[in-house]
Amino acid sequence: MNNNEALGRIMLDEETIAKRVEELGRQISADYDRDFNGEPVVIVCILKGACIFASDLLKKLTVDARIDFMAVSSYGASTKSTGVVKINKDLDTSIEGKNILIVEDIIDTGLTLHYLIKSLWGRNPKSIKVCTLLDKPERRKVEMTADYIGFEIENKFIVGYGLDFDEKYRNLPYITCLD
Ligand code: 5GP
Repeated sequence: MNNNEALGRIMLDEETIAKRVEELGRQISADYDRDFNGEPVVIVCILKGACIFASDLLKKLTVDARIDFMAVSSYGASTKSTGVVKINKDLDTSIEGKNILIVEDIIDTGLTLHYLIKSLWGRNPKSIKVCTLLDKPERRKVEMTADYIGFEIENKFIVGYGLDFDEKYRNLPYITCLD
């Protein structure tokens, strides 16, 4: 690889991530089984960052689980503080009356999810829950708490396991940060 940035230490190794994903899969399956009577859950994977996490998590779910994808980006510098996001790729299927589990890579300011959840409620799903691999609670600008959190992490710029810097490093099997 032709790297221009220095990577920091490994913060979460492959084994640690796998173990936590398995735990989350077990917990989510038990909760949905108990609360939704075997109804299907639709994983809404937020591209691109959550693609690896969502795939690994999906394999650990023992309930009737489906997956759909959405790609979002911030609307540009001037509107960043309002948290308005642009939907670059929308879901293929209707979520009306469905149980939705949004799967995110990381919650930072919380603005993206805040906007997304509001927008998805407008489509009349039965329920919306959020599962994030990583959480940086220090950086919040709006109140946002995920139902399921893989790891709470310090305020660094994270890459690996799906998370990128300028489209690089998504392929790293572990989680690290830019130094
Ligand atoms: P928020 O709207 O919560 O501030 O940001 C959400 C999005 O910003 C995440 O889904 C992710 O794409 C990006 N992001 C926030 N923090 C990081 C980080 O530390 N590393 C990377 N690669 N992306 C981040």
